[in-house]
Amino acid sequence: MTRLGQKTIIIAGGGAIGAACAVVLAAKGHAVTVIDPTPLGHNTSGMAAGMLAPAFEAVMDGASRAIFELYLESMRRWAPLLAELGLAKRDAPPSGAVWLGADAEIMAERFDALGADYRLITAKAAQALAPGLCLPASDALLAPQDGRLDPWATLAGLQAAGARFGVHYHQGRMVQYGEGQAVLADGQVMAADYLVVAAGLPRALASQAPELAHLSPIKGQLVHFDELGPSTGPTLRTSRGYATPTARGLAVGATMEAGLDDTELDIEIAERLTALGRDLFPALTAVSPMAKAGVRAASPDGLPLVGPSQAPGVILACGMRRNGWLLAPLVAAQVAAYVQSEDPSSWAALLNPQRFDTAQG
Ligand SMILES: Cc1cc2nc3c(=O)[nH]c(=O)nc-3n(C[C@H](O)[C@H](O)[C@H](O)COP(=O)(O)OP(=O)(O)OC[C@H]3O[C@@H](n4cnc5c(N)ncnc54)[C@H](O)[C@@H]3O)c2cc1C
Repeated sequence: MTRLGQKTIIIAGGGAIGAACAVVLAAKGHAVTVIDPTPLGHNTSGMAAGMLAPAFEAVMDGASRAIFELYLESMRRWAPLLAELGLAKRDAPPSGAVWLGADAEIMAERFDALGADYRLITAKAAQALAPGLCLPASDALLAPQDGRLDPWATLAGLQAAGARFGVHYHQGRMVQYGEGQAVLADGQVMAADYLVVAAGLPRALASQAPELAHLSPIKGQLVHFDELGPSTGPTLRTSRGYATPTARGLAVGATMEAGLDDTELDIEIAERLTALGRDLFPALTAVSPMAKAGVRAASPDGLPLVGPSQAPGVILACGMRRNGWLLAPLVAAQVAAYVQSEDPSSWAALLNPQRFDTAQG
């Protein structure tokens, strides 16, 4: 039986974005099926560091600066979303992030320019926040609002919550959509009012939505000291990279290799990141981490593509670049607004997937 206003929605992709869209849409009463060829977490979302870092991302990454407020808005939505799904406490404070470097004062000026919260702290205070951290050579800067989550556990939690709301998860690859019919690579046909493309860099769907042609890959590599290193405390940011505690050990990353879409591991990069982890946490000196690589999808201006495609019935939620986890709650809410023909947020124009085509034409 179909309820009044209920839509049938197929989501191509079960990463951070697809998983969040699925649970939010299903919680609103829609009939949702997630299609993905890979098992849970075998994607960029599963190997990512999981930082939710509105402040440091906006300060350190040019493309992110323009959407600091959007990052903050998405960050604010994480705790209530997880609490609503029974996955975490609503009032759990963010773990914070600490800049370690001789130039904490210069970093402070950049935080001031952005209007982001920070505190200058002593080297000893930084060490106290991160048990096992080598005493920093100089004072540090704490960004209290930045946080993190465990990608793998969050994907599993989102999927379990989605299943409770009736989401169907189907292993397969979407290849075509038109006139309310979605076609999978194995020839299976499914009826759907909407196709939500949340497939990262969705090559197989490029002919289904012209806007996808604007996406390009950025390879990223990190190392993970599995089960070792701190699992609590703040993320540490340095000019050589970041180190973030996860439930399964310390993750140290990450490269931004524009134009590369392979997941080959580079030993020199792994060694460089390993050295950073060990310099920060000397107890890791005898430990060999696992190296991992993933591919981010990026648009020409570095901002996501979220909203209706020129292709009828297709809604895009792609191009999350280096902040897909941070953006997931806001993107899911935005996609839900389009499905329900509600006003999307004031960010709609900035994220409009058709913005590049309009600019040319
Ligand atoms: C090294 C590294 C570190 C990162 N750290 C962070 C971080 O700390 N914080 C943060 O916010 N972000 C981080 N990111 C970025 C983040 O991982 C991405 O922005 C995010 O994973 C994008 O999520 P997604 O769901 O769009 O894509 P993906 O996770 O790539 O998921 C897409 C899914 O779509 C599926 N798919 C593809 N084609 C099809 C098809 N035709 N039909 C059906 N399914 C299909 C794929 O199998 C895949 O499972 C990091 C990225 C890297 C590489």
